[in-house]
Amino acid sequence: MSAQRRYSIAVIPGDGIGKEVMPEGTRALEAAASAHGFEVDLQWHDFASCDYYAKHGQMMPDDWKDRIGKVDAIFFGAVGWPDTVPDHISLWQSLLQFRREFDQYVNLRPVRLMPGVPCPLAGRKPGDIDFWVVRENTEGEYSSVGGHMFPGTEREIVIQETVMTRHGVDRVLRYAFDLATKRERKHVTSATKSNGIAITMPFWDKRVEAIGAEYPGVTHDKYHIDILTAQFVMNPQRFDVVVASNLFGDILSDLGPACTGTIGVAPSGNINPDGTHPSLFEPVHGSAPDIAGKGIANPVGQIWSAAMMLEHLGEAEAAASIMRAIEETLATETGRTGDLGGKADTVSCGKAVASLIG
Ligand code: ATP
Ligand code: MG
Repeated sequence: MSAQRRYSIAVIPGDGIGKEVMPEGTRALEAAASAHGFEVDLQWHDFASCDYYAKHGQMMPDDWKDRIGKVDAIFFGAVGWPDTVPDHISLWQSLLQFRREFDQYVNLRPVRLMPGVPCPLAGRKPGDIDFWVVRENTEGEYSSVGGHMFPGTEREIVIQETVMTRHGVDRVLRYAFDLATKRERKHVTSATKSNGIAITMPFWDKRVEAIGAEYPGVTHDKYHIDILTAQFVMNPQRFDVVVASNLFGDILSDLGPACTGTIGVAPSGNINPDGTHPSLFEPVHGSAPDIAGKGIANPVGQIWSAAMMLEHLGEAEAAASIMRAIEETLATETGRTGDLGGKADTVSCGKAVASLIG
């Protein structure tokens, strides 16, 4: 008899609506676990929050890595409460530490039309748009390499370098091509700008060719980032997996969900594909101080993040059952929350989804 499948999950609600949507995320997780024959060991933590900062003068305990470094995945809500802790401190001392210390070198976001979510692009229906944005998450344009000379004078000079390593580029490209092999269309689109950025981007393009050659079953093409953003709006149905450097990926991973109206309900993964450290799953939205404490936040971003996490853990059927439950719930006015013109609150929407997970 095989042992029961069991996953340890660090649950970090964080701040604001993170604390309200997280219980709905874990409700869905537990429903999926019991329906699909595995266990989740949920370990709740109060750090990586501004409440924790108020008590301890820092966002996380010194031994945070020991506390969560061995779990199978991290389930995160939202961080930030700018009235008490400036965003650059709350973010840098929590989420960005996880990304860096756990080498979560892929940022993954779905772009998918969902029922009940008004699409800003006319004439599209659910099923028309369904692709992934894969963003390099550790180097590239966001490397803190450069200098600032003669500040405040007429001679002022600022320089910031892009750092691309073959190791860093190849590993995110491999992730994108691997992802494409699991999809029906098996196609990768690369974001480039080699006509203007004449050293790093031609290198990126060359690595796309080299890694692409390792995947004969996957086709690939490339677009310059300017026309690619236009294509997201005009022809989003043509994409399957889109891979991009840190800066281009940052832009595309907001633009994509915005094109499908889902930025408020979309999830994301910060993934360490090698499994050397845990990966982290969280909704795209932030802590939303303007609606926090009212019980009206849409929990779907958190619940969809649970589905992504289960997919990552190898529980594809459980993930699919959460997705079906989300789609069924969003299709009804009684299931949707107020931000989508529905009548549900956070808890009733979360319960509706959980009751449909089978
Ligand atoms: P970040 O800190 O991640 O950059 P932010 O703090 O600028 O994000 P959010 O917290 O995502 O922004 O909120 C932006 C707007 O969207 C707010 O007006 C908020 O009320 C609304 N919003 C965000 N998430 C949700 C949600 N889950 N349900 C309903 N409304 C939401
Ligand atoms: Mg914020």
